[in-house]
Amino acid sequence: MSKLDPCAVLAPVACATVGGSTPQAAGPAALLESDAALMDAALAEAGLALAEREVPVGCVLAVPLPFPTGAPPRYRVLATARNRTNASFDPTRHAEMVALDAVGGGLSLPALREALRGATLCVTVEPCVMCAAALQRAGVARIVFGAANPKFGGVASVLPAQGAPGAAGAAVEGGLRAAEAVALLKQFYNRPNARTTAGF
Ligand SMILES: [Zn+2]
Repeated sequence: MSKLDPCAVLAPVACATVGGSTPQAAGPAALLESDAALMDAALAEAGLALAEREVPVGCVLAVPLPFPTGAPPRYRVLATARNRTNASFDPTRHAEMVALDAVGGGLSLPALREALRGATLCVTVEPCVMCAAALQRAGVARIVFGAANPKFGGVASVLPAQGAPGAAGAAVEGGLRAAEAVALLKQFYNRPNARTTAGF
């Protein structure tokens, strides 16, 4: 893991899907210009999850756009998503799985891997082992997370990032705005009668 620059400039272009009532694929106009901007959108999704009494984890799936050498990266957002385990009564509906479904629902695995070629998954909390395996299988090239997930983390804490057989694992960077992600989790777990499922 490498430490990310928390002072990176936030994007002037908002993600079109942030604030939406349901996870969905983003339109082609949804551009973000830094990892910090991706995390901004992921944290916004986590905030919505908190309001919905879900474990507050949010994520963004994006693909980098070509840019000149030395210029800051730009990303086209494919999907934003948040945990929906309680609303769906489905413990697998973690934010990352919802995002993958938003991009690849109905696609074959090769088509999904093509759609995600070079993709970055930015998520407020380290993906669990289940999500990490799904992300690797889908060919996500890079995972940026905020807070570590010491009990269930599948890309650094419990298991390292691993590639599918014959494929390289995703590049992983952690710790981006971790304090904000943890603050959201504390708000959730400090509530009385919080409904949770194991892991996130
Ligand atoms: Zn997960």
